[in-house]
Amino acid sequence: MQQVQKKDWVNILFLTFTPVIGIAGTAAYSWTHGVRLWMPLLTIGMYLAVGMSICAGYHRFFSHKSYEAAWPVQLFYAIFGALAAQNSILWWSSSHRVHHKYVDRDWDPYNIKRGFWWAHILWIFYRNDERDDTFENARDLQQNKIVMWQHRWHKVILIVVGFGLPTLIGAMFGSPLAGLLWGGFLRIAIIHHTTFFVNSLAHYIGKPLFNAEVSARDNWMVALLTLGEGYHSFHHRFPADFRNGIRWYQWDPAKWWIRALVWMGLAKHLVSTPEPQIEQARMSAAIRMIETRIAAAPATAGDEVRRKLAAAITNLETAFALWRQQMEEKAQGMSRSWRETRRRSRKLVRQSRREWKSAVRLAMRIPAAA
Ligand SMILES: [Zn+2]
Ligand SMILES: [Zn+2]
Repeated sequence: MQQVQKKDWVNILFLTFTPVIGIAGTAAYSWTHGVRLWMPLLTIGMYLAVGMSICAGYHRFFSHKSYEAAWPVQLFYAIFGALAAQNSILWWSSSHRVHHKYVDRDWDPYNIKRGFWWAHILWIFYRNDERDDTFENARDLQQNKIVMWQHRWHKVILIVVGFGLPTLIGAMFGSPLAGLLWGGFLRIAIIHHTTFFVNSLAHYIGKPLFNAEVSARDNWMVALLTLGEGYHSFHHRFPADFRNGIRWYQWDPAKWWIRALVWMGLAKHLVSTPEPQIEQARMSAAIRMIETRIAAAPATAGDEVRRKLAAAITNLETAFALWRQQMEEKAQGMSRSWRETRRRSRKLVRQSRREWKSAVRLAMRIPAAA
């Protein structure tokens, strides 16, 4: 079911002119007046503060409740998040929750099935009056005073702080216009399109490692551009997890920032998915890709694949039981034994991974069904 949608001219003009001024304007100014070190540093500094307020704030804290944060952190997210020109926390989170609930279907506001450019930017060019002011899926956020204050003032904050602050910083260095271009317009264009990549590219290119049923993909390139939001297959499978890149080497600055907040005593109760459960999702996604091959396989080869998969599943079940035991031991303060139990659980997870991967390799050698 497609709703009749009216064009939103304010959004169309804003999203057209900010990158033109941001890129062409900054280039022209730099050509005529030169570039000084503070200018790109201003862009990077504001990109980090605003980008983190979107990734760790709007997204992981407000939309998904993946941790608890102290009010000064929430206020920081509310102010710097407004500078991204991506509407209020309440509006953004409500749309984002709809995206997760109806992903790839008509109600998904940035449904990738309507095309790459729709998911990237075109969806913002249309009004959706029915959804806009109800926010019934964000009752929890409506109880939050900071959220409601920001919902009322986010446009004023964007204009006064988003354009005023970089202009002021520019003025301190002797060029308010350079500040406005580098820290205002260019920075907005960069944050817009890198955020939009999560809705377009991360639903388009990459691997559906954790859930083969939806379009979300793990894509390290998008992670690099968005402070960690590119591991999108994992995120759609475990949206409440405070991490998107779960391996230590995966680029996820938002996860590191949240850990730093915990260290400073400003955040707590981080939601993280047990490792056996993550492995189970990976295995299921992989099996789904080879199901038809197994079904079409000659009896002996098919049996071998099934035997390996059964062994992998048994090991994961044991790993899961050990993981729960480890949590209990940890809660009881048994400092030595919980680590040992966790070590055993992890060992079984790795063993299970070897088994299911070997089953998948075997299945890939079976000719695909016609
Ligand atoms: Zn998504
Ligand atoms: Zn999300």
